[in-house]
Amino acid sequence: MDQQQEIRYAEGLYPPDEELGRVLGSIRSLGMPEISVSPGYGRLLTLLVRMTGARDALEVGALGGYSGICLARGLGEEGRLLSLELREDYAALARANLAEAGFADRAEVRVGDALASLDALVDQGRRFDFFFIDADKMAAPDYLDRSLRLARPGAVIVGDNAFYHGKAYNPENNGPGAIGIRRFNERMASDPRLESTLIPAYDGMTIARVKA
Ligand code: SAH
Ligand code: MG
Repeated sequence: MDQQQEIRYAEGLYPPDEELGRVLGSIRSLGMPEISVSPGYGRLLTLLVRMTGARDALEVGALGGYSGICLARGLGEEGRLLSLELREDYAALARANLAEAGFADRAEVRVGDALASLDALVDQGRRFDFFFIDADKMAAPDYLDRSLRLARPGAVIVGDNAFYHGKAYNPENNGPGAIGIRRFNERMASDPRLESTLIPAYDGMTIARVKA
């Protein structure tokens, strides 16, 4: 078994996604990090949002809007996406790409440190039914904690980069990101308020449902 070969096989089944191809091109041409969610997980995000009928989706970490478009695609007419992003320049590209994909009126990208934005949402009593956590791995356990406070019963919480390019399971790597993603994965697996799984393909993805 060769996971790279399996991923190539799986990707080959799907027609090229021109919209998302343009997004990846825009990220590359601006010299931004090429760390958008993998195509298979992008499709999974769309499916999960659609299958759960989520109306209020919250994303932590927008980058160029790739995963934001995947989330927005799964929302119905009434659905809304709020995406939190630290960098103004990344947020501007995410907004432009979301608008080009037809989601200008359904998606908002808010600039600032995600933890501060999440705390403000908690203070406002906001509620969401879908979370995609994909920003600073060091802060991932805090993002999960705030997500649980913002979650409606039955909400879905998804975390990207569960393996963090191998750092999650390398005992020699104890940098803040590795420690953060490890704690996040452990809490997703064992918090009594959640039922969850970790999908061990690409860079790993955790999916949890907040018990009703
Ligand atoms: N979800 C995106 C990829 C996100 S990459 C996709 O798959 O398309 C991680 C993003 O998190 C980067 O854009 C980075 O600027 C942002 N980020 C890092 N630290 C952050 C913080 N403290 N608050 C908000 N965003 C942060
Ligand atoms: Mg990611």
